[in-house]
Formats: sequence, structure tokens, C-alpha cells
Amino acid sequence: MVVITHLAIGRPPYLWEPPDASPDRQRVLSFVTDSPSECRLQARARASGPGASPARIQWQVTPPEGFSLPPDARLTGPEIDLTLHRDTVYAGGAPLSLVIRVTLDGTSAADHAIVAQDERDQLRQEYVDLSRDRVPDRVEFIDETEYQLRYGRRFPDLTFSQLNASVNRFAGRQYRWALLTEELLLALTRLQRLVGQSLVIASIYRNPVRQEEVNGPVDESHHQYGRAADLHVWPNWAPPQDGRTIATPVDWLRLANAAWQAGARWIEPMTLTHVNTARCHLHFDVRGAGSLTAPVGVRGEVVDAASGKPLPGARVELDGMTARTNRQGEFFLQHVLTPEEHTLSVSVPGRTPVAQPVRVESRQVVTVRIRVPA
Ligand SMILES: [Zn+2]
Repeated sequence: MVVITHLAIGRPPYLWEPPDASPDRQRVLSFVTDSPSECRLQARARASGPGASPARIQWQVTPPEGFSLPPDARLTGPEIDLTLHRDTVYAGGAPLSLVIRVTLDGTSAADHAIVAQDERDQLRQEYVDLSRDRVPDRVEFIDETEYQLRYGRRFPDLTFSQLNASVNRFAGRQYRWALLTEELLLALTRLQRLVGQSLVIASIYRNPVRQEEVNGPVDESHHQYGRAADLHVWPNWAPPQDGRTIATPVDWLRLANAAWQAGARWIEPMTLTHVNTARCHLHFDVRGAGSLTAPVGVRGEVVDAASGKPLPGARVELDGMTARTNRQGEFFLQHVLTPEEHTLSVSVPGRTPVAQPVRVESRQVVTVRIRVPA
């Protein structure tokens, strides 16, 4: 008789040590691979009974689809230690599975184990396969039930289905699991309270394969870690309320300021969020480090370079936000930006436009004087 006594697959290895008396020999666990292209498999078996010798143990391994055994794999003896290699490029989705069999001399005295990825590890495998910086732990993913337990009472206005924008390409539906951080749920709830109406959520949690489809170049998007939100920007929300039906920069700015007050740490530049179209949205996330965004202000005056006389009616623009100078040539412009150098462009009818670097400061108003040549 021969039994499998130990299995370790992937990283961190999933250990399988069935009790000797287990009636159910077909144990199903789960795993993720070490990397997109490799998966280490270690196994041990014990032979017992008359004439049983460890040297007579033979192994058969059926690797996950797309993976193959090393050509020199040693598949006899009491233990095996193999690295499976993936030959084909990741195709996006099916759960991986492995079948391991042991026999004594290829006879019927056999044992086997089938190890297939459950849905949580199928999802985690996306982080491995798409080489994300961090592969979340199994316990970080929550389903509807866990969401209710953990957050249901504290965030009654936010439902799991609203927050889960994942897509399981293999199954043709959402994943039942998502990553959602408390910090993000807190910020959304505070924001809802601040604006006094229900937020229109476009997208919160995205799995890596979904992120590739939505915005492939941003491979470390915080949406994949449950730390980012895309919200629809209401048109005609900020003054002057003139009945407009698409959101303009002032509508965006009002929501961006509120999001910042509610705890948003980084807000995507307005120029990337489709303002002045029906697709206008606000993206914010609650990242812990890096360059953070804040309300900023620029106050200034636009004058003729030669005479120093004020130029009224000049158009001033900073990263998509615009203002016009008054009769005294003065303007005031508010925005939400990262505190660094940005370009202020000034155009006066009949003159060559001027571009001037301006260093904005977090939660401060900087003053500039722009001289426009004739
Ligand atoms: Zn986003």
C-alpha cells in the first residue's frame, strides 16, 4: 500500500498532510503558482505492507493546463521535488489544477490527490500572472457575507454589489470576491455625507484582468487593491447653475474638493477625466504614500510686458482649469493638483500666448505676475 503524506505547491506553499485515517482520499485544496511561469511541487509518500519499499514508489503528475514537467523529472522514490514550467502565454482565466498519483511498481496499490484552485486563488493567480507588485493574501478578499459581517452595519449606504466591479472572464460573471479597504469605505461615506446625496459609483474594485481591459497602462492601479473609486460627476452641480447637462471643470472641482475633505489622498488629474463630456468622472484613491493631491490656488495679474499696464479679459489656464482677468488684470484660479511645478498658459487676443511655470503649494494660494509681450 502507498499513501501521499505531504504536498507543497506554489508560493507560499500550500501544505497538505492528510491524517492517515482519512476516509476521503480525494482531497481538494488550492494554490497559486510561484511566478507566471513556474510552479514548484514537492510531495512525499509512504509505502507499507509486505515487501513495500520506498524505492518502488512511482509518481505521475498531471500539471496545470499550459504547464509541463521538466524533461529530466525524477518520478520514483519516496519524494519528488519538481518545478513545473509554463510554456504558453497566460490566456486569462481558467482555474489551475494539478493531479498527483502514486503507485507501487505501477500496480493497483495507489493513492492520488487532486488540487484545484478555488475562486479566491483563481483571482489571486491574476496578480501573479500579470506580475503585480503585491499578491494579496487569501484572507484579504471578502465576499458578500463577509462584507455584511465586517462593514454592513457601519456603511449601510454602500452595498457589496455596488463596490465589486470585477469580471471573472472564465465564468462570464463577476468574481464573488473583492478587495475593499476600510479607508476607502470611510472616505466614500464621509463624501456622501458632505455632498448630501447618493454617490453615483462607476467603478471600485477591479481584478487585474479587468484592469488590463479598462486601463492597461496603469498596471498598479489602486482599484485592484480596493483603494480607489471612480465617481460620476453630476452636471450643473457647482455654481453658476445654468442648466448645463454635461459636467464642466467647475462641477468636477466641487466634487474633487469634497472628496479631498472626505479623505481622498490622490485625485486623478482633471485633464484625464473627460470633463465637458457625458463621461466625466472623478477618480480618487486612498494610497498611503507618494505624491498626494490637495486643493491649490493661484492668484495673479496679467500685464503688458513693456508698460506694466494690466490686461483685462486675458484667459488663464492651469491643467484644464480656466479663469479670466478682470478690469485690473487680476485673476484667481482654484484647482486640485499635486504640489509641484505646473504650466500656466495665458492668452490675450491679438498677442502670442505665454506659458509660465508655476509651483503650486498644497492648500495654499501662490501669487504670480505674468508679463505678456505685445
Ligand atoms: Zn479610477
